[in-house]
Amino acid sequence: MSGVSQVNAGRRADQPVLVVNAGSSSLKYQVVHPLSGDVVADGIAERIGEAQSSITHTQNGRTESDELPLPDHQAAIARALEFFTANGVDVAGADLCAVGHRVVHGGRTFYRPTLITPEVVEEIERLSTLAPLHNPANLIGIRAAQELLPDVPSVAVFDTAFFHDLPDAAATYAIDREVAAAHAIRRYGFHGTSHEYVSATAAEFLGRDYGDVNQIVLHLGNGASASAIKAGKAIDTSMGMTPLEGLVMGTRCGDVDPGMILHLNRVAGLGVDAIDALLNKRSGLKGLAGENDFRTLTEKMAAGDEDAKAAYDVYIHQLRRYIGAYMIELGRVDVISFTAGVGENAASVRADGLAELENYGIIIDPDRNAVRSKEPRRISTDDSPVTVLVVPTNEELEIARQSAELV
Ligand code: ADP
Repeated sequence: MSGVSQVNAGRRADQPVLVVNAGSSSLKYQVVHPLSGDVVADGIAERIGEAQSSITHTQNGRTESDELPLPDHQAAIARALEFFTANGVDVAGADLCAVGHRVVHGGRTFYRPTLITPEVVEEIERLSTLAPLHNPANLIGIRAAQELLPDVPSVAVFDTAFFHDLPDAAATYAIDREVAAAHAIRRYGFHGTSHEYVSATAAEFLGRDYGDVNQIVLHLGNGASASAIKAGKAIDTSMGMTPLEGLVMGTRCGDVDPGMILHLNRVAGLGVDAIDALLNKRSGLKGLAGENDFRTLTEKMAAGDEDAKAAYDVYIHQLRRYIGAYMIELGRVDVISFTAGVGENAASVRADGLAELENYGIIIDPDRNAVRSKEPRRISTDDSPVTVLVVPTNEELEIARQSAELV
């Protein structure tokens, strides 16, 4: 589903894009030039709808914060627009090429950046059953931005889109076919914008055509996911029907035996909401060590905290399982890229995740791995048959590019 007809023909791709990432009580925004990647400004509004909301805005190297009541997302965007105006940029005027919205779940319907029409809004709403925490919040952001910037075309960029064409064997859960079909149960994958951006950047870094390269991308942030990309096409990913499956995450469990959920219900007496909260909010590193922030976890580990060490070991174990699986699925691996907060910053995770795989052609250079930088960089040795990179992700820029391209 897409509609280009209503696009304002006067918009140019060298105009900046306002990228909006709306969560249930937060809203991140960035105004960025899609061609150069230059960021005009960015900011985050937090605790929207609560008594003590705040907004932080960075522009021209200066960060300003405001603690004020933000009753809803529209109030947050309105306050952001005031920051822009005070800093000499009339975002509400004709300066924007598009507003690009991150939308988490596109289901089977949306697999490309899509101009937002009333019908598209309706469909995103319908898909909320698949992403009850995310799509409604994304829609609030869409409505708020449309209210305040009615003349700027808005575009939805879906987290699931990059994985839309997963091979059936990878996308299908082995459950009763009719039940699965009736309830849209299959593997959709998430973090697609990041996997797409990072894999494209990795191919560019290697100076090779995207379609020629076999890649593993490890997006390790608070949420974490892995993908296998063969000759430019995603063939597998660790997140599934929801962002709960796969790797160990900050607060999410990743893969568990579904029988455990039955046990929690039948034997432990937990209801569906309690199990939901347990698996989404009190599992992962948080559940194992009481701490979901990787930096703090590392500090605790260094101070001899045994739970922190055990959590780290489980995290690495699961990461290596996926790397191993994807190496076999791909047959030949050209490049493995680490990205997001943990992947970009935690050298130990990169070293331990790929330790002792020399027989498989993966040789990490410890000095390169220790380098800190905001640029894409190689951390494997020059003679390592598999190239290993750190590629800082930039989902905002990817959303801006895709939005600008559409309009
Ligand atoms: P998300 O976008 O999913 O919220 P991020 O990609 O920002 O998450 O990653 C957040 C994670 O990255 C946190 O666990 C944080 O502790 C970790 N992180 C950030 N900087 C570092 C660092 N220097 N060393 C280790 N972990 C880090």
